[in-house]
Amino acid sequence: MKTHYHVIIVGAGFAGLTAAETFAGQGLDILIIDENAQSGGQLLRKTRHRPSLLPRLEPDRMKSKGFALIESIKKRQGIDWITQAQVLGIFKERRLLVHVENHNTPGEKDAGKIREVQADHLILATGARERYLPFKGWTLPGVMSLGAAQILMKSHGVLPARNTLIAGTSPLMMVLAWEILGNRGRVAGLVDQNSMKKKLAFVPLVKDHWPKLVEGALYTARMILSGVPVHQGTRVIEARGENGFTSAIIAKTTPEGVIIPGTEKQCPADALAIGHGFVPNIELPVQAGCELEYHRDKGGWVVRINQKLESSVRSVYAVGEITGIAGAKKSFIQGRLVALSILSRLGKINLNSRTNDFHHGVETLVALNLEQEKYARFLNQLCQVPLSAYGTIPDETMICRCEEITMGTIRKNIHQGFDTMGSLKKATRCGMGRCQGRICGPVILDIITALTGKSPAQVGCTLSRVPVKNVGISAFLNP
Ligand SMILES: Cc1cc2nc3c(=O)[nH]c(=O)nc-3n(C[C@H](O)[C@H](O)[C@H](O)COP(=O)(O)OP(=O)(O)OC[C@H]3O[C@@H](n4cnc5c(N)ncnc54)[C@H](O)[C@@H]3O)c2cc1C
Repeated sequence: MKTHYHVIIVGAGFAGLTAAETFAGQGLDILIIDENAQSGGQLLRKTRHRPSLLPRLEPDRMKSKGFALIESIKKRQGIDWITQAQVLGIFKERRLLVHVENHNTPGEKDAGKIREVQADHLILATGARERYLPFKGWTLPGVMSLGAAQILMKSHGVLPARNTLIAGTSPLMMVLAWEILGNRGRVAGLVDQNSMKKKLAFVPLVKDHWPKLVEGALYTARMILSGVPVHQGTRVIEARGENGFTSAIIAKTTPEGVIIPGTEKQCPADALAIGHGFVPNIELPVQAGCELEYHRDKGGWVVRINQKLESSVRSVYAVGEITGIAGAKKSFIQGRLVALSILSRLGKINLNSRTNDFHHGVETLVALNLEQEKYARFLNQLCQVPLSAYGTIPDETMICRCEEITMGTIRKNIHQGFDTMGSLKKATRCGMGRCQGRICGPVILDIITALTGKSPAQVGCTLSRVPVKNVGISAFLNP
């Protein structure tokens, strides 16, 4: 790894990879950094399990495009690509602190070390993670996020359990059910907080995105044919078990998310996979000093960008899920756009001449990007849990798992006036543990806004400090 690059891209998901491919052949030194061993971000995790019994379902062909991208970049000159390397912090003048767990360029001696590297232009494409709604028993072994269940299958080749209950509001629920069935697992049921009426209301709004509608229809048909019980307008309110999860208590809710008393039911299963949409990974942009803006319809706090996808910090760009949750297609489009924008700034291409291909390419991409963002707004609305659900979490429920802070403590402190992210953290230590608020941060923001009526801008967002990821002290001791 060199110490200076023309462009550094953090994140080898769809956004980062598309940007890298667009730079190829332009005579620039490019570095891509990703903490995962496999490239392709959340969508293209390597599949090590036995071939699925079901055909690969991808009417929009995004996965195929992603695998083709990876192959294309591998063949290109001038692109250094390190996997299993975490960016721990960003300092002034786009200097990055990188923990290299493994270096895949032969002859390099960086493995296990911390390295500093600087970019003329920095592209942040750090993606998203899942959003949680805590409930009694959610810390029991066997209760996991939808993404964790996917990773178990895709990266480790094991099913989450023999019989898995799937719940939440996320479109990933159907994807996971499809994958479990395709790998000879059983799905105990699908507990969907959205009612069928609410979902159908979205169909006319997204009618132009037929590949996604086809995908949804095929998933639904598969659930029906497999005899998977589907509970609509229903939520998990408790996970039960002695030493691990054995059953969930589910209950019907009103459209406002309020539990309807007397509708509780017990669902036995060996594991519970649950998720409520996604939140952008904004820790590195925060460190870089990028301004944020809050949009509930985009997944919460996102990086503010201009038309060139540049953040408020000069030459620091943000693309993909961190500018608003919208799926792989938008990440793909923004990756292309940001590279064209940087190439134009460097004088490598001319975007201003109306007669050249780049100009028309950019116009098309901008239009597609807007269209994709519009579609995503509806999807994010489907994933949203009504705020009242956060305000009514029972007192004994664990909120900050790392520091073991319960809802009762959080509620008491908010009522005493600690009603911003910063003050509540100082008063209770919530968000100060190993995950540094990545799991509880968005939950606490929703709890404060639900209990106080304050706006997210008044409540703030979780502070991000170096190192943003856990790293052993030995890495710092052996430079
Ligand atoms: C858990 C999960 C599962 C998903 N499963 C599906 C699915 O099955 N089907 C589907 O259509 N969509 C799925 N999605 C959505 C899909 O991943 C996104 O729409 C799309 O891939 C976003 O692309 P991206 O490039 O913006 O981000 P991502 O694909 O998330 O890529 C971001 C990359 O940045 C890297 N990164 C982040 N921080 C650092 C750091 N500090 N240092 C180094 N690297 C870093 C990550 O390792 C990751 O590879 C899933 C999303 C999540 C969060």
